[in-house]
Amino acid sequence: MDIITVKDKSFRPYISEEDLQASVKKVASKINNDYKGSSPIFLGILNGSFMFFGDLLKSINLECTVSFVKLTSYEGTDSTGKVNELIGLKEDIEGKDVILIEDIVDTGNTLVKLHEILSKKNPKSIKIATLLYKPEAYKKDHSIDYVGIEIPNAFVLGYGLDYDGLGRNLSSIYVLNE
Ligand code: 5GP
Repeated sequence: MDIITVKDKSFRPYISEEDLQASVKKVASKINNDYKGSSPIFLGILNGSFMFFGDLLKSINLECTVSFVKLTSYEGTDSTGKVNELIGLKEDIEGKDVILIEDIVDTGNTLVKLHEILSKKNPKSIKIATLLYKPEAYKKDHSIDYVGIEIPNAFVLGYGLDYDGLGRNLSSIYVLNE
């Protein structure tokens, strides 16, 4: 693999397709074990999780349903100024085991907000699976139940993750070349 240019920045190969697929399979196998006898709902967080979601679900052998949601943020009138809204959830998750599928957990803000919103809908449980996790950037106490690969605090691209909307279609992960 070579260095690539996306828009105005250069990125170098970081995690191979092979390593990604191996860690996706590990996460799937843990979930298969933990949810035996349950019929969970997998909730993919758009846009970034779409590739991880697709590959992960191919290795899930549970009876399950799938859906995708998006967290939007707009300027509101409350004290923090920001209001978050969850769009796309048509399913009733009351009493259900929910597994949130994230591309990457960085500061953890997204995860905590999603958890807050979804908890109000009275699911039986909510667990979080993320392909990538940046422990040095994570600022929350919330446990992250399934982690594919831990990475340092750097900007990565590919396999669903974008730079300014580009690069999501790459089948492996690249890192900003600085
Ligand atoms: P958090 O709320 O945990 O700080 O950030 C989560 C979101 O920020 C991710 O879903 C992703 O969209 C974006 N993000 C965080 N780190 C990276 C990164 O290294 N590369 C890309 N492309 N997006 C990132």
